[in-house]
Amino acid sequence: MEEIIAAIRNIPDFPKPGIQFKDITPLLADGRLFHRTIDLLAARHADQGIDIVVGIEARGFIFSSALAYALGAGTCLVRKPGKLPHAVHQQTYDLEYGTDAVEIHTDAFKPGQKILILDDVLATGGTVAATVELIRSNFEVEIVEIDFLMELEFLHGREKLAGLPMHALIQY
Ligand code: 5GP
Repeated sequence: MEEIIAAIRNIPDFPKPGIQFKDITPLLADGRLFHRTIDLLAARHADQGIDIVVGIEARGFIFSSALAYALGAGTCLVRKPGKLPHAVHQQTYDLEYGTDAVEIHTDAFKPGQKILILDDVLATGGTVAATVELIRSNFEVEIVEIDFLMELEFLHGREKLAGLPMHALIQY
């Protein structure tokens, strides 16, 4: 785990002054550590019969597709508005200034499927809370767990997921 943590680079003042961005590209570039990261995520869910791993745009996709492959599950995309080609459900959420939204295909799941939601970083929790609302208000599926590579604890995103099973490999 120390090696994985060491492969995540801090970028000061990105994308805005005062924000320290956790850059995962050195981790992705190291085949052994990327493999180990996916194995650690997969080990949590080996015997759970997961049907679909949901990835959140855009870095979430990198991990969700690899995890889906490791679990023998399918994967599904939650994207920013206007990116998905078929009919969509949409959920808006508040940003510091203004709003944003996430979308999912209307036929993303079959009733009763067991799903995981995965993103690289839990920051304020706005994106993943909107994703949960998007899925819960439109589908009858079981959200088995919400997983992250990293949780930025000082932003208290976890509070937006109260009552839902969640796990982060790394806490800052
Ligand atoms: P939130 O909605 O929780 O505030 O932000 C989470 C989203 O922003 C995630 O999709 C994540 O990819 C991205 N994000 C926020 N901060 C960081 C960061 O420091 N590093 C990376 N890699 N992504 C971040």
